[in-house]
Amino acid sequence: MIREELQQAINQQIKQEHAAAFIYLGMAGYFESINLSGFAHWCFVQHQEELDHAMRLFRYLLDRGGKVKLEALEAPKCDYASVEAVFEAALKQEQANTASIDDLYEQASKLHDHATISHLQWFVDEQVEEEKIVNEVLSQVQLANGEPQAILYLNDQFRGRQPDASLS
Ligand code: MG
Repeated sequence: MIREELQQAINQQIKQEHAAAFIYLGMAGYFESINLSGFAHWCFVQHQEELDHAMRLFRYLLDRGGKVKLEALEAPKCDYASVEAVFEAALKQEQANTASIDDLYEQASKLHDHATISHLQWFVDEQVEEEKIVNEVLSQVQLANGEPQAILYLNDQFRGRQPDASLS
């Protein structure tokens, strides 16, 4: 049976992953509203990935005999000042999520809960990838510098984003 304090921390991380999914969904809604459906598709894929992250923790907690507690989420933003503002917010969110995973990992380490440490290793690695990907998109959007042709080119590129095969 997993320790109560670790159950609480994992439940908080489940909330964090759902909140991240909700935020990406709001971003997708914004992009659809300005007819950038390629960017919206990118955000829908990200939304699904965050839901998958939440489910990995949800199932893990149950597998360990823990109790899942779901909490209400804050309403995400559905309007942004620019394409760049979306990816600046996305990067901040990923950095905050990395810090949250690190804290959880630290807590599991202090409690010598090796199964949780092992389970969280995937998340530690995933966050490296998440930050890298969002950073790349932000850099490309900054390079486009609001030029319509460049933004439309990126919009076409992002339309082809495939879901992460490792999750299925
Ligand atoms: Mg995540």
